[in-house]
Amino acid sequence: MPETVFIGFGSNVGDRVDYCDRAVTLLSLLPHSRLLGVSLLYETEPVRDQTDPGEGWFLNGVVQLETDITARSLLTTLQEIERSLGRDDDDRSGPRTIDLDILFYGEQVIKEPGLTVPHPRLHQRRFVLMPMNELDPLWVHPTLKQSMAELLKHTKDQFHVQLLFPQPSTKYGSRPACSSPSGS
Ligand code: AMP
Repeated sequence: MPETVFIGFGSNVGDRVDYCDRAVTLLSLLPHSRLLGVSLLYETEPVRDQTDPGEGWFLNGVVQLETDITARSLLTTLQEIERSLGRDDDDRSGPRTIDLDILFYGEQVIKEPGLTVPHPRLHQRRFVLMPMNELDPLWVHPTLKQSMAELLKHTKDQFHVQLLFPQPSTKYGSRPACSSPSGS
């Protein structure tokens, strides 16, 4: 049975729109997978918790896929996409051309070396909750048992997140005209 997965993406260096566009396009081409939706792009203040991503504001968004790829293989694939888009493996906590995270893998809870799903900090990050709420406000976090709309309503995250305006058109044709599968 295919799983519904949500992948967060972000870029804060170089041509951020182009990096996001390329990442979404590569995700849309994954085998054994179907692109269900892509959020709008959000411009977000860099969060400095355990990392120092630099001064540049991020562009962030979320991709929703249906896939037969296992979570572990998907993580490996995301890391290959990061490398192919110039992510600096030697300075993973610095500014990043592209950062890809598995936010949810269906309702599965995974705690393995190098792979934690749901992503452990997603519920604390407005820049994840806003695009998640756009794609599927009723999606329920499998351990917190709260929907994306509820988590967003109650988040204490004060970092600034705004819709990028104007939204760029995609060069590679990866972003569906409608961001939500329910409207397609
Ligand atoms: P980052 O620097 O944000 O790209 O973090 C990448 C590291 O987080 C890698 O070592 C991954 O193995 C690990 N990781 C753990 N859980 C996840 C997840 N759900 N999605 C992506 N990376 C993860």
